[in-house]
Amino acid sequence: MAIMVTGGAGYIGSHTTDRLIEQGQDVVVVDNLLTGHRAAVNAKSRFYEGDLRDRAFLNRVFDQEEITGVVHFAANSLVAESMAQPLKYFDNNDYGFIVLLETMIAHDVKQLVFSSTAATFGEAKEMPITEETPQIPTNPYGESKLVMEKFAHWADVANGLRWVALRYFNVAGAKADGSIGEDHHPETHLIPIVLQVASGKRAKLQIFGGDYPTPDGTNVRDYVHVMDLADAHILALDYLQAGHESNAFNLGSATGFSNLEIVKAARAVTGAPIPYEIAARRPGDPSTLIASSEKARKVLHWAPKYDDIEKIIATAWTWTQSHPEGYADK
Ligand code: UDP
Repeated sequence: MAIMVTGGAGYIGSHTTDRLIEQGQDVVVVDNLLTGHRAAVNAKSRFYEGDLRDRAFLNRVFDQEEITGVVHFAANSLVAESMAQPLKYFDNNDYGFIVLLETMIAHDVKQLVFSSTAATFGEAKEMPITEETPQIPTNPYGESKLVMEKFAHWADVANGLRWVALRYFNVAGAKADGSIGEDHHPETHLIPIVLQVASGKRAKLQIFGGDYPTPDGTNVRDYVHVMDLADAHILALDYLQAGHESNAFNLGSATGFSNLEIVKAARAVTGAPIPYEIAARRPGDPSTLIASSEKARKVLHWAPKYDDIEKIIATAWTWTQSHPEGYADK
């Protein structure tokens, strides 16, 4: 009996796979390695390279393995890219999800935890964002994830497939020993880019927009440590195994940091000057995203261990320093 992790070679997927294995689970990883890294996958898992949209491939894995539940990460997840190539997002994220759901149902696998996102909320009118906040995405990435939540809902109604959608706010950090971490090509996320500047790999940071309706004019985001996020997936699997109903949870820290505050925190962690300039806004960026995670704390008993942005950045810094070229495979 094994848990399937799709996208287990990716950033959050590799940390979750690592944690599952640490807890003694048998894990099957499926990843097409387009953005993931083979070296990020815990060696104690069984790895299948392939794409979820390849129905025959996915069927073979389900035939071969005795899968009891799926943790689904495999997706495209960049706001700006989704604005330029929306159909790429609907094809990979939504069509891929349909094939996964159909294959799960055909193999009588009825427990699914999957990645959703704060981007499903768009420009929310209330902060912090709760599970009751209306979901009105402002970019195709958020739309593709909202569609997945709706597909999962109807697959439950019709087929009894039980799911938990975890809506991540901003994920950061790395496993504390620095053995796995965040490595995107090209890198577009704020904290890894800030650390590339700190380590001299990039001359300066561009902050996208200085005229947002926030205290210092830069976007405000809510950062969660990747290991805390990994734990939330395991709690969500436990929740489904206990027979509870399908559900969605917001995962954040309830604390917002502006992009300028992130630069300040990273300067404190690294001791580097980290020069920046204010550049044009990035299309599709909401001004502020802060989560209420009350529901996850109450229902899943989620208790994030990292509550300090400097500690989160410090783990990412350990990874950056020990892996200056990331996994060096792209
Ligand atoms: N950001 C920035 N410069 C960069 C990368 C990101 O100013 O080089 C900003 C981005 O506009 C957003 C915040 O950092 O306000 C977080 O962006 P990221 O891409 O890390 O995550 P997202 O919020 O899009 O999920």
